[in-house]
Amino acid sequence: MDNAVRDGAAEGGAAEGFGTARAEAWVRAIATAVEKEQDRLTELDSAIGDGDHGSNLRRGFAAVLTALDGLDPAGPGALLNRTGTTLISKVGGASGPLYGKAFRAIGAALPDTALPDTALPDTALPDAAALGEALAAGLDAIRALGKAEPGDKTIVDAYTPAVAAYRAAVAAGAGLPGAASAAAAAAEQGARDTVPLQARKGRASYLGPRSIGHQDPGATSTALIFRALAEVTAA
Ligand code: ADP
Ligand code: MG
Repeated sequence: MDNAVRDGAAEGGAAEGFGTARAEAWVRAIATAVEKEQDRLTELDSAIGDGDHGSNLRRGFAAVLTALDGLDPAGPGALLNRTGTTLISKVGGASGPLYGKAFRAIGAALPDTALPDTALPDTALPDAAALGEALAAGLDAIRALGKAEPGDKTIVDAYTPAVAAYRAAVAAGAGLPGAASAAAAAAEQGARDTVPLQARKGRASYLGPRSIGHQDPGATSTALIFRALAEVTAA
């Protein structure tokens, strides 16, 4: 039985939990988005960096898809952990270790044992709150490694509001689809809000005030990652 059937996502997305199938669908949706938006990410990185953000992520997620093909049946934790490890080993730019550590932390916060090969009840899968804590652990990992504060014009500027919006939605009673969609909208707003900022971390910081007026590529790819999550959890 494949992962989609196993955690119920195959039945029109009726399951509320974040099991192996959704984790895999998320990673595949990110790979698709990165492929589609590669040129835009590269353009943004050409303006305030070295123009490799699109190709870095495209190469990284292509390698992730290959790594997942060779992965034995695994829980969402192991799958996302493998995603992170692959990004760390395949992406040379700053974004590889940062996203790599984030996915490893998200994976570490989710069940990492293979789920039984039967359709599990929703209650056996990580729920919206559990995924929210895992996503927050991903942000902590990015901040621990990159030492960026909100306002430094980085990934953190999209990821921080995404986690806040996700948590607020869960607190207000939202399930996975509502929380993920709130997070995606907040990440997109956070990415747009990097335009007037001056970069204080990463390559763009070398430009000083000349980094002002451009949207940050990493914040933009973070918005793609949260939009992909909203797509695959949509009821
Ligand atoms: P590189 O800068 O090494 O060429 P990429 O182009 O792949 O790597 O990624 C650039 C993005 O990485 C930036 O747009 C920024 O969002 C993000 N970034 C750089 N440094 C940091 C940091 N210290 N913390 C968080 N994000 C960072
Ligand atoms: Mg770059």
